[in-house]
Parts: sequence; structure tokens; C-alpha cells
Amino acid sequence: MTTIMEAVKKQEKAILQTYDYLHSIPEWGYEEVKTSAYVEKTLQEHGINVRRVTETGLVAEIDSGVPGPCIGLRADMDALPFTNEEGETYYCHACGHDSHMTMGIWTLLQLKELGLVKKGKIRGIFQPAEERLTGAKSMIKAGAAKGMDEFYGVHIRPIQEIPYGKAAPALWHGASVMAEIVVHGQTAHGARPHLGANAIDAAALVIAAINSIWLNPSDTWSAKVTRIHSGGSMVNIIPNKAVLSLDVRAARNDLMKEMVAKLEMACKAAAAVGCSAELKLGDAVPAAEYDQSCIDALGAAISHVLGQENCVPPLVTPGSDDFHEYKVADPALKTAFLALGSDAAPGLHNPAMHFKTEAMFTGVAILTEALASRVR
Ligand SMILES: [Zn+2]
Repeated sequence: MTTIMEAVKKQEKAILQTYDYLHSIPEWGYEEVKTSAYVEKTLQEHGINVRRVTETGLVAEIDSGVPGPCIGLRADMDALPFTNEEGETYYCHACGHDSHMTMGIWTLLQLKELGLVKKGKIRGIFQPAEERLTGAKSMIKAGAAKGMDEFYGVHIRPIQEIPYGKAAPALWHGASVMAEIVVHGQTAHGARPHLGANAIDAAALVIAAINSIWLNPSDTWSAKVTRIHSGGSMVNIIPNKAVLSLDVRAARNDLMKEMVAKLEMACKAAAAVGCSAELKLGDAVPAAEYDQSCIDALGAAISHVLGQENCVPPLVTPGSDDFHEYKVADPALKTAFLALGSDAAPGLHNPAMHFKTEAMFTGVAILTEALASRVR
């Protein structure tokens, strides 16, 4: 679509200015005060309606006034904390969320200024705290996703995954859960172990049971014990408590359910030595669940902008994104996720991360084209 690409070309300098400013004000999740104020002001100055639905979360809308679908685009706004040599915390946009906001803003501006919203609505969701894995939930709770039919996300990719000049119409994130297993035993004197129940013995049995879990080997999954706490100040006391921490991953949400059920079963191993164990699920992110019609819309837009040979197959990544909470909250919502080649190096979440900023121009063109195709 030459007209969209020509329009984006004219805005390249302004797009970089937006990016440079956002890059210069990195803020931690839920503290995106300057960031959200800038996004809000920039959109409002161009006549786009913006609602502040949480302290820093924004919903922008372009309404055609004609009945039709509501098509959403998510941009995350938070930066990451790092520690410098003096031991002080500082923040840095090391995951490219500054580029996602820039693409989100400019996609909305292009759709508005080129008059591409012929029916229905386009909704931009500028979400806080993706890195804290709760930002999406906070926006859902605030009603930001209500009434949406389709929802698109975008993330720049590391050079090892997709090079600059190429893009994929889906990024398959896995599900992850941080879990804890608390083992309860009975304290006793080290000289009279038969009067107690050693929580460490039970923890060892539970770990062996976890390491014996099998799901279908053709799927990707894992459960690892990553921390263990037990015992007190004295060596001659039988401990009555042990706490295990686990990092659990699965390629799909149904697989994660199966894994959690098997972890519950593994906890029963503690009973063999008179203890009990309970599984507590902590921070969790669901796996991606996309819809072919949305993947196709992104694929067509990528082919249009970059050429068909540069639309690479959907990518499986070990990373996660809380974008998928929106689908879990509303299973009828159709989604897809643009994986944009940008030569990001040395890697995401590295404070030295840099990428080809020109990738944002193609990102804006692809997203504008994809969203426009749904409200034509
Ligand atoms: Zn990220």
C-alpha cells in the first residue's frame, strides 16, 4: 500500500523525535507518569480521544461513527530497573517498549490523518507494567478491553530471532508460572528423629517426584526446583518446614494445566515420610492463543510493506508477555502479535540493548495497513 508507506516516509523524522523523547524518560511499571502524560498529550494534540483508565494506563480511540468492529492495538510503556556500579538503581528501556509506544502513537496518527477508519473503531491501549506481569490485568480490570473484537500486539525481536527487514505475523510465547511448595513436618530432637517428621526428607521425595513428571514429549514443557529453604540455627533439630521454589513453563495453556495437576500429585510424595506438602501458584503468564484471521491480516500487511519473501513463519520464543491475559479474560477476543525484525542486540533486557530504529517505520506501516484492513 504505497500511500501508507509514503505517508510514513514523510513522518520519519517526527517518529524518531517521539522515540528519542520516550527513550529519554524510562520509568518503572505503574510509575509511567511522564511517559503516559507525553503519550496522552501527543495523541490529544492530533485530535485523538484519550481516556486515562488507571493511574498511568491510557485508552485512545478513533471512532468512525459508523457501526463496525472495534480493533485494538496494545503498546506497553514500562522500562526495566538495573543497578549501576555504585549500587544505585536506574531505569532503561532495554526491552524496546519505547519503540512499541512510538509505533502505537504513530499508527493511530496515520489511521486518523489518512482517514482510514471507515467503519467501527480503532482503540489504542497504552498499558503500564508489562515487565511486572500485572499491567494487562490492571487494564482489563479497568474495562480497557471491553467491547473489543480484535486485538493486536507488537514486539521488536532480537537479532538472533528475526533480522531487520523481516517480520512474522505471530509470536508464540509460552506459559510460565512461579510456584512454591511448602512442606510441613514435625519438629523433634536430632537424637529422637522417630518422634518427628523431617521436612527435608519429604522435600527430597517431592523433588524426585517433580523430576519424574512426564507430559507428552513432543510438546515443550519444564518444571525446575530453583530454590530450597529449610532448617534453622541448630543442626540437631529435625526441621518441620521446607519451602521449594519452582520455575514452571509450558508451550500451551492446556499443557500448563496438566503440569499443575501433576505437581499437585508430586506433593503427595511427602506423605511417605509422614509430612504434607501444598502447592502455591504465584506470578503466572498465560501462553499465546492466536486466531488465524488476525494472523492472516498481519501477514498480508507484512507482505505489502516488506514483500512476501520477508514475511517469515510464526516464531516460537521462550519469552513471555502479559498481552495474552486479554485473551484469557475474554476468550471471544481474536488476537495476533507482530514480531518485528529490528536487529536488537546484544539482547532484550540488556541495558546495552540497541536496535535499528528504522524498524519503527516499517512497524508503523505494517500496523497501519493491518488495522486499516479491518475497518475498511
Ligand atoms: Zn518487552
